[in-house]
Order: sequence, then structure tokens, then C-alpha cells
Amino acid sequence: MSSPDGLPIKLRSEVAAVTPYRQGVQAPDDGFKLSSNENPFEPLPSVLERVQNASSFNRYGDASALELREKLAAKFGVGIGEVHIASGSVAILYQLVHATAAAGDEYMFAWPSFEAYPMLGLASGAKAVTVGLTSDYRHDLDAMADAVTDRTRAILLCSPNNPTGPAITTAEFHSFMERVPKDVLVVLDEAYREFVVAPDAIKGEDVIANYPQVVLLRTFSKAYGLAGLRIGFAIGNEQILNGARATGIPLSLTAAAQAGALASLDAEAELQERIRHIVDLRTELSTRLHEIGYTVADTEGNFVWLGLGDRAVDFADFFARNGVVVRPFAGYGVRISVGETESIPRVIELASRFKSEHVS
Ligand SMILES: *Cc1c(COP(=O)(O)O)cnc(C)c1O
Repeated sequence: MSSPDGLPIKLRSEVAAVTPYRQGVQAPDDGFKLSSNENPFEPLPSVLERVQNASSFNRYGDASALELREKLAAKFGVGIGEVHIASGSVAILYQLVHATAAAGDEYMFAWPSFEAYPMLGLASGAKAVTVGLTSDYRHDLDAMADAVTDRTRAILLCSPNNPTGPAITTAEFHSFMERVPKDVLVVLDEAYREFVVAPDAIKGEDVIANYPQVVLLRTFSKAYGLAGLRIGFAIGNEQILNGARATGIPLSLTAAAQAGALASLDAEAELQERIRHIVDLRTELSTRLHEIGYTVADTEGNFVWLGLGDRAVDFADFFARNGVVVRPFAGYGVRISVGETESIPRVIELASRFKSEHVS
């Protein structure tokens, strides 16, 4: 019979205990949604056209994404087997954690970091081990290396770190890798790599050949503006990626997503222009928030981080009441995505008002 809490069947208790994911709310028509690090630009016409002409929807897409893998393999100077495509890099994160960490094993990441990380091991029973950021919101790589145990199977590094913004430096990365056992998977999640300008930031594609245990993750969702199509990719050792392919849900990758990604690679120059624009807006947003008295973390992504601590939720609620949706991390801070050009003065105005109305 049904359980006391109204469940008609038996759900695993650790699964039943999970609070359902709440996606960022939509902004009103005259407002701005700055809560999901989405790209504010409409898709390029050339990309839209290729997506619309992609396929008959009564047919499956090419599950192996051969054409796109060939193109990415050439771009990154690797073999076709060293590229893996899936319906979003979140899907690949899930696959890699499942391929490496069984019940009782550990996978590790910094915190706060990408909100999907804590869920990745839930279904397999792998334990999520978190290591706090430094006071300037960077990965504490020494503490992460110290936290490795004989149960650690995977370490997720997010550079630039979502939601705080700093990138891991090349020097920090190499020192960290010297301390990590060679048989532990290290995932370098570079979802925001295209927005990085700091010359000392780690660039996975430059170092991957030296580290067989490292897998790079990239996505078409952020800089390329295809979040709604769901497509991301990994570059790394073929056997490791075979593990990811083995744990993936079959046939999830659509032909439309592949067409959008291929068309985007053909439109790289136009997209680079948009990326430069977003980077300029990021600088403007950080500078102006700093001028009105906020401490803004260094950022190499398409978002800025205010370490507001206990005032994070109040700040986000105040913004939401005024039509601007930002993302609070209760007790830590607020992430504001770099959106439309017109959103910048609105954010500055509201941030100033919040400061004057909530003086502590
Ligand atoms: C947005 C994001 C992703 C993933 O995105 P997909 O849309 O699944 O490709 C992955 N990692 C980080 C850190 C992100 O912020």
C-alpha cells in the first residue's frame, strides 16, 4: 500500500529526500533575467536557418555526432575518439561521475561552485565532498589536494568558477596536478572559457596532452548562445570518454542541436564579436558596482559575484520586486549575469538603492 507520506510506490529514501530543482523564474516583459548566465543575444540568423533545416523530426539524429566530432577534433588537434558530445555538458558531468564513482566512493569539488555538482552522485550513491573557496572566492587547490582520500575517484574543477568568477591560473593547475594521484579523474569544467581574458588563466586545450587523467568540458550554451538546444562536449582520453559514452542515456542528442553547433563553429567570427561585447559589459558592470561601494570578485565569466553573505537573499528579493532576476546563494552571495546592454544601468540603480535602503 502507499507509504505514510503519500508516495504510491517505494522511492529510494535518498532520492525521496531531494528537494526538486527550482529553475530561475522568468523576468517580467520590461525586466531582465540575469540569473542563469544565458547569452542575451538572439541566435544568429545563419544558425537559426541551419537548425530549422536540420532534420525531419520523425528521424533520430546521428547519436555519435560524427560530423561535429570531426570538426572539433580538428579544431582541438585531437583524434575523433578523444571528443565526446552530449546533450549539454551537465550530461557529460553526470556520465563521468557515474563512470568513475560507485556507492561509497567520493567525488570532490569546490563550494560554492556549479549548482549541479552536488546532485551528480546521488543516483549512484557516490559521496559529494566539498572544499570551501578562499576568501577571495578562488579554488583552494591546496585544501582540495589535502582532501583527496583513497576513495576519491573524480575531482571537478570549474574555471572560471561559476558562480564566483575567478579562473584557476596555469601555475596553480600544474602544482595541483603534481599532488593528485594519477588514477583520479580531473574534470576541468570550462563552460565559460570563451569569456576569459586573464593571460595567466588555465586553458585546458594547451595542457591536456600532458595529463591523460584530465578531461575538458566545454559547452555551446553560454558564449555560443545555444542553451535551449542542449549540447556540450568533452575532450580527453578515449578510454575515459568511452566510460562517459557507456553511462549516457542513449539517443538524447538531437540533430537540431548538432546543426546549431556546426553552424556556430562556422560563425566563429561573428560570435567572437558578441563575446567581446559581453566582456566589455562585464568590465563596466564590475567597475560601476565597485564605484558604488560593492566588493566585486575578480571575474572571467559572463557574470559577477557579490559576496553579500547573509544579505544575499534580501538583495535578490529586492531586485526581483523591481523586475530584475538575479541568483542568490543563501548565506554566500549573489551572482548577476551580464545581460542586455540596457540591463547595466538598471542593475546599478537597484544596487545603489539597495545600499541606501538597507544600510546596516
Ligand atoms: C552552465 C554550466 C554548464 C553547462 O551547461 P550545459 O548547458 O549543460 O552545457 C556546465 N558547467 C558549468 C560550470 C556551467 O555554469
